[in-house]
Amino acid sequence: MKIYQFYVGGAWHDPASGTWIDTENPATAEVWARIPDCNAEDVKRAVQAARECFYDGPWARMNAADRGRLLRRIGDIVVANAERLGDVETRDNGKLAKNITPPLKSWQSDSFYYYAGMADKFEGALIPVDAPDILNYTRHEPFGVCALITAWNSPLSVLIWKLAPALAAGNTVVVKPSEHASASTLELMGVLEEADLPPGLINVVTGYGPTTGEPLVDHPDVRMVSFTGGVPGGSMVASTAARKVKPVVMELGGKSQQIVLEDADLDLAVNGVASGIFPATGQSCISGSRALVHRSLVEPFTEGLAEVSSNARIGDPNDPATRIGPIANKPHYEKVLRDIAAAEQSGLRLVLDGRGKGPEQGYYIGPTIFADVTNDTKLAREEVFGPVIAILPFDDEDEAVRIANDSIFGLAAGIWTSDTARAIRMAERIEAGTVYINNYFNAATQSPVGGYKQSGYGRENGFAGMGAFLQTKSVWLATSPAQPEPFAD
Ligand code: NDP
Repeated sequence: MKIYQFYVGGAWHDPASGTWIDTENPATAEVWARIPDCNAEDVKRAVQAARECFYDGPWARMNAADRGRLLRRIGDIVVANAERLGDVETRDNGKLAKNITPPLKSWQSDSFYYYAGMADKFEGALIPVDAPDILNYTRHEPFGVCALITAWNSPLSVLIWKLAPALAAGNTVVVKPSEHASASTLELMGVLEEADLPPGLINVVTGYGPTTGEPLVDHPDVRMVSFTGGVPGGSMVASTAARKVKPVVMELGGKSQQIVLEDADLDLAVNGVASGIFPATGQSCISGSRALVHRSLVEPFTEGLAEVSSNARIGDPNDPATRIGPIANKPHYEKVLRDIAAAEQSGLRLVLDGRGKGPEQGYYIGPTIFADVTNDTKLAREEVFGPVIAILPFDDEDEAVRIANDSIFGLAAGIWTSDTARAIRMAERIEAGTVYINNYFNAATQSPVGGYKQSGYGRENGFAGMGAFLQTKSVWLATSPAQPEPFAD
């Protein structure tokens, strides 16, 4: 049994509460580690360390180019330790090993190199103000201590998208991963000890949302919050942050649609839609969990989707042949089962039932397909965050766009068609932060991601991802001795 400590000020600590939280391997339902149950006292200590690092010591004096060099070092260490980190994440949340380790070696670690390059290129401006003998310029400055709060489905990639730009911008951070999947974040700190980071630059506290996350967001010395999670948690965090008027970036959930137009290549669409919902066992924020299918294609599409999905191998997340791993934790497994049962009881047509599929030990649910769904049902409106897809028919393009936009969410959408010009027109009308045309699930460090509506606000990745961790100062300089108007006669 692995017993973790939490990481603050460049050292490992036991929690003040003296208690730890069991963490299970969802592939086997066995407790394999314990993580610290940190409380407000531990959070205070973490914020203090981050604050001292921001104001004093080598980080406070480090120039932007040197921050870039440090980020490159971090990237190299992540690449060198990708297997170890991936192994822990797979054991902790059941994500397929083949979907963690290769990205950690390539485009996930690219985030560190990308923002390393950006650290000394985010330039201010000289503004041609309408004022004589005045030089006005802007500086982009870090906030100070930032809280990075992450979800359990992809703890490392969610963290890297925040950590790389936060550090490139010159901030210090306190990370709070989900209590369901904290181990890979703690392991990351273990491997980063080799990077000789300034103490207090990156701190990690683990524990529950209300007792660890809430005091972190509320701490007066935390100046900015970047959150990834569900709408209920996000709205609580946004409310807490609003009490002290802190800027927040919100990466929240979705009920994303994949639209199959009547001119789509059916095989391509079937495989594309299956690959847009079932990888990660449906536990991706952008999972395309609503398939809007032109009525003329509904029957062949539904049959095709059921056929390719029922062949997907369910089981050991370390086996390269596995397509569907376990649900990441027991409470969520029970929630997905409840959602499937509720959809079935409401009379929806269950075309493929994933319950009872996969190994007996562990939290497995196979691909599950409901057909003839209407957009007023709970299944079409709420995020299941599991391997469950709803097929909704539509009759024309306008109706497809109306159904797509009739949602509280706006994270992602897919369009499957052989008419690219038509897809471009539709993409403009769809209220979502990301639109895929004849592909799905692509993401890159260079391209911004984020939500419309209740899927969140602010953007990660790209220039916007760096901008989120900076504030702008306008400086006014008199270029000749100031000659103010006499203040009083
Ligand atoms: P939650 O919202 O439950 O939790 C997210 C994080 O917030 C966890 O670390 C959680 O801690 C913490 N938290 C919860 N309540 C509070 C609080 N009051 N104050 C401070 N912190 C708090 O999300 P899940 O972990 O269940 O993740 C699944 C959700 O994340 C899905 O909705 C998914 O769509 C979304 N997601 C969005 C992504 C995006 O980029 N848009 C990417 C990945 C996931 P704890 O778990 O310990 O309670």
